[in-house]
Amino acid sequence: MDLGIAGKWALVCAASKGLGKGCAQALVGEGVNVVVTARGAEALEATARELRGLNAAVKVIAVAGDISTTEGRTAALAACPQVDILVNNAGGPPPGDFRDWDRAAWIAAIDANMLTPIELMKATVDAMAERGFGRVVNITSGAVKAPLENLGLSNGARSGLTGFVAGLARQSRLAARNVTINNLLPGFFDTDRVRTAMQTAAERSGKSVAELTAARAKTIPAQRLGIAGEFGEVCAFLCSAQAGYLTGQNILLDGGAYPGTF
Ligand code: NAP
Repeated sequence: MDLGIAGKWALVCAASKGLGKGCAQALVGEGVNVVVTARGAEALEATARELRGLNAAVKVIAVAGDISTTEGRTAALAACPQVDILVNNAGGPPPGDFRDWDRAAWIAAIDANMLTPIELMKATVDAMAERGFGRVVNITSGAVKAPLENLGLSNGARSGLTGFVAGLARQSRLAARNVTINNLLPGFFDTDRVRTAMQTAAERSGKSVAELTAARAKTIPAQRLGIAGEFGEVCAFLCSAQAGYLTGQNILLDGGAYPGTF
C-alpha cells in the first residue's frame, strides 16, 4: 500500500537507535524526508548514513542535541523546513523506588516524557492544521495501560502526556483539518534499552541474558520480543494519508501481553 506521504517532512526525535530509528527507517522507506535527533553525534551520523542508503530520493538531516532541552528542540525544529509529521520520543526515566526520588528526578522525567512532546506539538500542530495535513505519533509505553512497579517515573510522566493528548487530539481546529495525534505504546521490544536492562537483571540474578529474555518472551502471547522495524511500520501507517480518521488513540504494540479485552 502506498501510504501517500512521499515528499513530506518528518521530525523524528531520539532516533539514532531503537524504536525512534525504526520509525525513521519506515518513514524514509515511504519517501519521507526526515530530521533525526539524538544526543550522541557519532551514532546519530551513522544512522543518518544508513537512512540515506535506504532511499536516495529523500533528504536526511541529523541534529545532535538533547530533545528535552529548549536548545535541543529549537535546533531540531530549525533544521526541518516544515514539520508534517512529528514523532515524539526520548529516553525513558530510570527505574527505582518512589521513596528515593526527589523533585529533580520528577522534573527530569516530566520534562523528557511529558513537557518535551507537548512543547513540540505546540510548535507544530497549528501550522499543520493551516496546511491541512499533520500526523503526530508519541512513543509512550505499555506502562500507561498497565503500570510497571519499578518504573513509577515513567508511569506518572507518560500518563500526564496521555491525558493531555486525549484532549488536544479532539480539538476540532486540529481534527477537522486532518491533523491526527496518537500515542504508540511499546510492550517489550528488543532494543539497546531493553538489552541493558536485561544485562543488569542477569548480573543480579546470576542467570544469563538469554535465559531471562526467553523467560520474559514466554509471558507474551506472541512468544517473542518486538522488533524496532515492526514498531516503525505501525508508526508509518499512523502517519499515512489513509489514517486521517484515526486520532486520539493509544495503540498498544505488545504481542498480546496486556490481558484486558479493551
Ligand atoms: P534505546 O534503544 O535506548 O534508544 C533511545 C534513543 O533515544 C537513542 O537514539 C538515544 O540516543 C535517544 N535519546 C535518548 N534520550 C534522548 C534525549 N534526551 N534527546 C535526544 N535523544 C535521546 O531506547 P528504546 O528502547 O528505543 O526506547 C525508546 C522510548 O520508548 C524510551 O522512552 C523507552 O522508555 C520507551 N519504551 C521502550 C520499550 C522497549 O521495549 N524498548 C518499552 C516501553 C517504553 P542518545 O542516547 O545518543 O541521545
